[in-house]
Amino acid sequence: MNKSLVVGNWKMNLTVPESTVLIEKLKKELVKLKAVEVVICPSYLDIYPASKELAESNVALGAQDLFYEEEGAYTGEVSPIALSHFVKYVIVGHSERRMHFGDTDKVVARKVEAAVAHELSPVICVGESLHEKEDGLGKVVVMSQLETAISHLTAAEIAEVAVAYEPVWAIGTGHVCKPAEAENMAANIRALIKALYGEKASEGVRVLYGGSVTDENAADFAKLKQVDGVLVGGASLDHEKFTKIAKAFEPKKK
Ligand code: PEP
Repeated sequence: MNKSLVVGNWKMNLTVPESTVLIEKLKKELVKLKAVEVVICPSYLDIYPASKELAESNVALGAQDLFYEEEGAYTGEVSPIALSHFVKYVIVGHSERRMHFGDTDKVVARKVEAAVAHELSPVICVGESLHEKEDGLGKVVVMSQLETAISHLTAAEIAEVAVAYEPVWAIGTGHVCKPAEAENMAANIRALIKALYGEKASEGVRVLYGGSVTDENAADFAKLKQVDGVLVGGASLDHEKFTKIAKAFEPKKK
């Protein structure tokens, strides 16, 4: 059974002092969690101080993105080498990166490859837009995004990956996906990984749901067989809500 994974994406929120306050509260409240791995992804600027603050805690650190090159003339970008000293996880292919910063499926694939090459575990985000959902293209879009994203990985490397199904229409909108739909897409994701890498790989990959997860609906996702955790945006900025979400995944009720 996979250990549940609950990831908080703080996006472009919180100053370093504000992050410190939130981290202190989370550390206290999450200290007893055993069956769930909690990860927070603050802004790049907060990664170094957060790495000190989270040392010897049971909360892991992740980045919200990375660049695929290791070093050089890439103004404003952050190297996987630099990140690998401080974080264990990295979100790749978030819909906000795809939408506002032009991250194509091929760019996402290079970022995933760079993450794994530097022993970072990528949390690969895939998900259809509202328009694509209404046109009945959800599965096709998600499968195509995922197949490209993992196309450079070997069967051994796929074990490091988590896949977050994040329907774009559910992110930050309050329109949460029906648990049955999330379960169905998670099963599709696992089936694709099985077809490409075999059964063992498909069982080991953690599949998350993301999109308007709150302390009120987290338990509905924790019950799902194919869903190993959640990627949380807005509610991860509130220590009480995020703690309740993490606790919903412990113990795993499957
Ligand atoms: C996200 O940022 O990945 C996300 C799911 O945001 P929210 O929880 O706010 O919908």
